[in-house]
Amino acid sequence: MPTSVYLHIPFCRRRCYYCDFPVSVVGDRARGETNPAIADYVNILCQEIKLASSFGAPLQTVFLGGGTPSLLAANQVEQLLQALDQQLGLATNAEISLEVDPGTFTLTQLQAYRAAGVNRLSLGAQAFQDQLLADCGRSHTVSQIEQAVEIIQQAGFSNFSLDLISGLPGQSLEQWQASLDQAIALMPTHLSAYDLVLEPGTVFGKRYQPEDIRLPTDHTSAQMYRLAGSTLAAAGYQHYEISNYAQAGWQCRHNRVYWLNQPYYGFGMGATSYITGQRFSRPRTRREYYEWIKTGAAIAIPAVTLLDEWLETLMLGLRLSEGLALADLQAKFSSAWVTRLQPLLAAASDRGWLKISADRIYLTDPEGFLFSNQVLRSLWQAFD
Ligand code: SF4
Repeated sequence: MPTSVYLHIPFCRRRCYYCDFPVSVVGDRARGETNPAIADYVNILCQEIKLASSFGAPLQTVFLGGGTPSLLAANQVEQLLQALDQQLGLATNAEISLEVDPGTFTLTQLQAYRAAGVNRLSLGAQAFQDQLLADCGRSHTVSQIEQAVEIIQQAGFSNFSLDLISGLPGQSLEQWQASLDQAIALMPTHLSAYDLVLEPGTVFGKRYQPEDIRLPTDHTSAQMYRLAGSTLAAAGYQHYEISNYAQAGWQCRHNRVYWLNQPYYGFGMGATSYITGQRFSRPRTRREYYEWIKTGAAIAIPAVTLLDEWLETLMLGLRLSEGLALADLQAKFSSAWVTRLQPLLAAASDRGWLKISADRIYLTDPEGFLFSNQVLRSLWQAFD
């Protein structure tokens, strides 16, 4: 039964050059208080929430992601959380996360978010070099990251995460080390460090090809990954997922639901939900999404087969450093499938990428995580 919700807030001031998320660009001065498109969207999103079926258990995690949810006025965040509470119920200790971008919020605004129930913030920092930020189309500077963290702390948010990106065009190993050090100095409870992906259709996707000499080489990107692991471990962060690190007790409860392949609601333009064995993605443009809500148009939803669920459980679960329990796989799926897995696990283990211990299988850190695509591809090919 789903006890987690993702709400998509699809507005950004500008589009970053690497981003292919479903977002609408609203300009550098846009705010939820004054922008009618944002107000309309919040109303439609509340309508969608009010159509959701409750399964009786209150929500344990809510994640307002985007886009740039910190463009919302505090009363809009409150409106959304109230709609969720009325329709699905919010547990008193629910983790309620909201993504924020430097330069898009004030102290008063964050205090009001907190009063509305938000208790975790995720700040898009990405890099600590003004040139790198400008070169990837970010709309803020390093000093705005630092001011943002100051405001977050003044507003009383002890639980906040920072996002960083490695493998950016022109980024050196030294710059990556400096970004990690500066991020740690800001003392977040949680850090996400993603390697740049060149998505088709983005500015970067058009400007760069893999192996472009302006990008760090695969060797340097791998070194950046190892550096993140060793630097963050030395600073007391646990590497609990391929790209995520947390101080003890501060893993992201919401994202764990995805990695454990558990069900969740998704609401809003482009959002995906996974309920009663079906994955469903909403339309990715506002016009189509509004049309879908207004007409209640049915969309054919292919059911997730047991084989799909098996593959997704392996792919997602192996992202976690704790890995997967073979006994759980056997109980939930089939012992024949677990037996078929054995030679693949043995091959990955021989290469030092995977460990089998006390009935759990997990990728090694950092080498198994670095070569996770190869391990997962072999699993996919064997069962697809
Ligand atoms: S702020 Fe985030 S969601 Fe918006 S364009 Fe940049 S990366 Fe994409």
